Amino acid sequence: MSEKRDYYEVLGVERTATSTDIRKAYKRLALKFHPDRNEGSEDASAKFKEATEAVQILSDDARRGRYDQFGHAGVEAGASSGGPDFFSHFQDLFADFFGGGGGGSGGGARARAPARGRDIRVEKQLTLEEAVLGCKRDVELVTPVECGGCAGSGAEKGTTPQTCRTCGGAGQVSTGRGFIVFSQTCPGCHGQGTIIASPCRKCDGAGWEEKLRTVMVTFPAGIDQGHRLRVAGQGMPGPRGGPAGHLYVDVGLAPHARFEREGVELITRQTIPFADAALGTSLRIALLDGSSLEVTIAAGTQPGSVVTVADHGAPNVNGRGRGALHVVVQVEVPKKLTKRAKKLLEELQLELKGGDHDHSVRTA
Ligand SMILES: [Zn+2]
Ligand SMILES: [Zn+2]
Repeated sequence: MSEKRDYYEVLGVERTATSTDIRKAYKRLALKFHPDRNEGSEDASAKFKEATEAVQILSDDARRGRYDQFGHAGVEAGASSGGPDFFSHFQDLFADFFGGGGGGSGGGARARAPARGRDIRVEKQLTLEEAVLGCKRDVELVTPVECGGCAGSGAEKGTTPQTCRTCGGAGQVSTGRGFIVFSQTCPGCHGQGTIIASPCRKCDGAGWEEKLRTVMVTFPAGIDQGHRLRVAGQGMPGPRGGPAGHLYVDVGLAPHARFEREGVELITRQTIPFADAALGTSLRIALLDGSSLEVTIAAGTQPGSVVTVADHGAPNVNGRGRGALHVVVQVEVPKKLTKRAKKLLEELQLELKGGDHDHSVRTA
């Protein structure tokens, strides 16, 4: 990497610039080089970081003083550049500019909308009937909501969180020895900047509580295991009035007693007596929608044969077409025979063996 540029040069301000000038200069650069506006540009990202680092130092009187006196060596010893701390810092700075206060000074190409709330993902298991026919079902989610007892502050009613005395509300403390300055999370408030002397009893000071929420979700006909439905705006509420996140519902399928499913194909197994398989028969199959279907089993049907009935499977979830119903025929061999049944079978056996039997009789 090349030599570090002078912070004043980076921001394009005089060494005599006021702190207002410095912040203004930074804002201009930040708007120009912010990663959101320069997707994938490493150059912009580097410039943005450089400007952010510069404003961090120059907007802090003590650090600016050390910088003026000793240059980069006065402010950077021990501080790794670009660590997570660095980023949380610049996000805070950025929030100062764009969050909350002041109704934008116009001009801005795209207004800084408040961030969207987080998405929530839940699983919902449907029966095969519900999935194939479509349904509306309640989906329950547990989400944190602002505590009603303290309106989210975490402090007991009638009290307010106090600014931390250790860090003066910054959430960070710096310890200096010579030029070397270490920043660390404030041990007094754990980085919060405030201390809650009497925590809200309802939420134990957390500021939020868990609430069970029910969302009615429409599952379209043909939805299947592994599909994911998006319900817009039913995720977590956005911070500072931002739009809510989305709810994603991952669909699972409960096993069914009579049908298996492979995509839009439905499979059912039907057992028929071996005589029916030999002679041919017809089967009435109860379908998922409550209707029934007659299926013809041809004479001489073999065990494991499949009879396919088009357009009686599951619908395609996009509404186009429908799969087939496959009837797998299983043939049952009787395990117990009456005397008469046995005799008849033996006769049948002889009959089926035909000429072979006559021949063996003659030669015996
Ligand atoms: Zn509370
Ligand atoms: Zn503190």
